[in-house]
Order: sequence, then structure tokens, then C-alpha cells
Amino acid sequence: MLNKRLHEQVQALSQKNTKKPILYALNTSAHGDHCFGNMYLSKDTTIIQHMNTKTYVEQHLSDDKAFMIKNFGAGRGIEEIEARTGDVLVKPNGRITIDLGSKLVEIIDFGFAQTGGDLFAWEADSKVLWSGNPVIAAKPSLPWLMDGHLIETLNTLSKVYAFLPADARIIPGHGVAMKKEDLKWHIDYLAAVKKNVQAAIDQGLSLEETVKQVAMPEFRGYVVFDWVHSGMNVPAAYKDLSKQCNSHM
Ligand SMILES: [Zn+2]
Repeated sequence: MLNKRLHEQVQALSQKNTKKPILYALNTSAHGDHCFGNMYLSKDTTIIQHMNTKTYVEQHLSDDKAFMIKNFGAGRGIEEIEARTGDVLVKPNGRITIDLGSKLVEIIDFGFAQTGGDLFAWEADSKVLWSGNPVIAAKPSLPWLMDGHLIETLNTLSKVYAFLPADARIIPGHGVAMKKEDLKWHIDYLAAVKKNVQAAIDQGLSLEETVKQVAMPEFRGYVVFDWVHSGMNVPAAYKDLSKQCNSHM
């Protein structure tokens, strides 16, 4: 959670369901809204993080706090956040199993999905996957390529799709439960971005011309579409795919 207030809201909600202690907390990435609340959890709660997330938080916490204060406002408890990093770390491409007594939960790194420290939680009995921000919500939301890596993100989400049984459900980072097939929207979008931006690069278009040409109205609908698609994802894809071209030359 982002701050103490949201942390307390979630704790109160979970207390309604169970009085049992929280044994584990999983940070699906280093994003502040997914790990700033660690410091408010009981000392007895084991924090699980990707190794890259721990390194990132150790090096960038103050930048991230500044970014969050800029977007969410000052005086909302972000100033007081101190890093509390993972007790259990997942290695790159790693997978660990947590035994909760009546069920096993697998924590999986499927590859670069948004930050390079992305973890998914999979519970095989109920066939539920918790994704964090690589899947923000169902259609019309879209992936945010904040740190670039279009091709890897596309490959990782395709890997997640292949991993899931047909009747699996996905709990996205910021939305209600989705079906496996809902993930196709995100994969199809990234595949279309890749194809269209590559075509623009092959035509010799500049970044500005590419953003104009790769409008993809068929994927509109997301409130922040222009910001995410034209402002972030197409430029990220252009950079990523241009690099690829150059490395072939
Ligand atoms: Zn988030």
C-alpha cells in the first residue's frame, strides 16, 4: 500500500475475514503503491520480494517518493515512508513455494513484465493468479511500459497466458478478478504495438511521425489512453525496436 491510511484500510478489511496473523506479504514490484506500506506491517510478517526489487528500493526510494508525492500530493503520508525490503528474495527467473498449511502458493518470476522485479502469485487449487501491475485491470486498461522493454513484456505476458489453465482467474494489480482470456487483450495490444511501430521504423519514420501513425483506435477506451499509448508505450516501443534494428546492422 502507498501510505499508512491505505495500509490501515486493507488491514481492517482483512480483519473482517480472519483474525489470523499475516504471515507473508508479497511485493509484486517496487512501485510505491505495492511496497511503501511494508514498514507498517508486523515485524512477524515475512516480506517476499524479487531480488531486483530490493536492489531498486535500496537505490531509488527517495526518487520514487518524490514521484509519488508529485502524483498523489504532499501531506498524504508518503513523506514518512522508510524502506523495508524483503526477508525472502526471489532470484531472477526464480520460483519459490510458500506452504500455508492447507494450500501451497507459488511465487513466480516469469521474466521482465514491467519493472524487472515482477512477481506473480499462483494458487493451483483455486486456480488464481495475482499479477500486480503487469496486468493493471481488464479491458480497456492497457500495459504501461514505464521502463520500456516492449518485446520482453510481450513475451512474459504470453508465457503467463500459456502457463494458466483455461479456467484460471487473474487478480490484476488495480482491478477486479478477470478470466484467463481477458489477458489476450493486453497481449494482442502489445503485439499490435510491436507490429505497427516496426512498420513505421521500416518506413524510416521519426518518433513524432510514428506516434502519429500508430494511433490504434481499435484499442481506445482507456481513460488514460493518450497518455499511456501515445505518450509512453509507442515511444518505448520505438526506442526498443530501433535498438534491435541497429544491433542487426
Ligand atoms: Zn500499482
